[in-house]
Amino acid sequence: FLTGRRKATEVAHAVWRSIVRKGDTVVDATCGNGNDTLALLKMVADEKGQGRVYGMDIQDSAIESTSTFLKMAVDDDHQGELVKLFPICHSRMEEIVPKDAPVRLVAFNLGYLPGGDKTLITVPKTTELALKAASRILSSGGLISVLVYIGHPGGRDELNVVESFASSLPINSWVSCKLQMVNRPIAPVLILLNKK
Ligand code: SAM
Repeated sequence: FLTGRRKATEVAHAVWRSIVRKGDTVVDATCGNGNDTLALLKMVADEKGQGRVYGMDIQDSAIESTSTFLKMAVDDDHQGELVKLFPICHSRMEEIVPKDAPVRLVAFNLGYLPGGDKTLITVPKTTELALKAASRILSSGGLISVLVYIGHPGGRDELNVVESFASSLPINSWVSCKLQMVNRPIAPVLILLNKK
């Protein structure tokens, strides 16, 4: 999945596909314009209508943008109903994901909304709280995927927080990995946290 000029999001999606199955429950912690939400919907939607994508974004406009994008991209109304969108901070994900739903993946695509207000970005404090929440709701065998952009102000501080959280996870129950382009110093960094 590293061949050619693949975007970091495509690399992340390839990793998600190796973990996520039809019928799974997954979380998009940063919906933005809905590209990741749609990719996740395609991975989980099954014929019995059992897959679920719980999506959130702090900006109402991002939730509207995701909702509009999904309506355009998904022909099947039943599939669209598998996505539940919430205009809230991702640190509150435990309030919206049902307690009895085993969560296979929590995806974070940090930074600002492309085409939106660049000052409304994810910040280390709530990102850390959200990672802790994600680690609590994730089922065994599941994955937390964090794509961190380091080219904008504050991006490296956020990477430090994510790496610090990743390295604090106990080795008997977690595998923490970092995927970074060594010949492109400001390329996004993908942190993958697999719960054993
Ligand atoms: N996944 C998106 C897509 O496929 O289009 C791109 C996400 S964009 C890089 C980051 C998003 O995180 C922005 O839409 C921003 O509003 C959102 N965000 C910032 N702080 C947040 C928070 N505390 N909780 C949830 N979302 C947040």
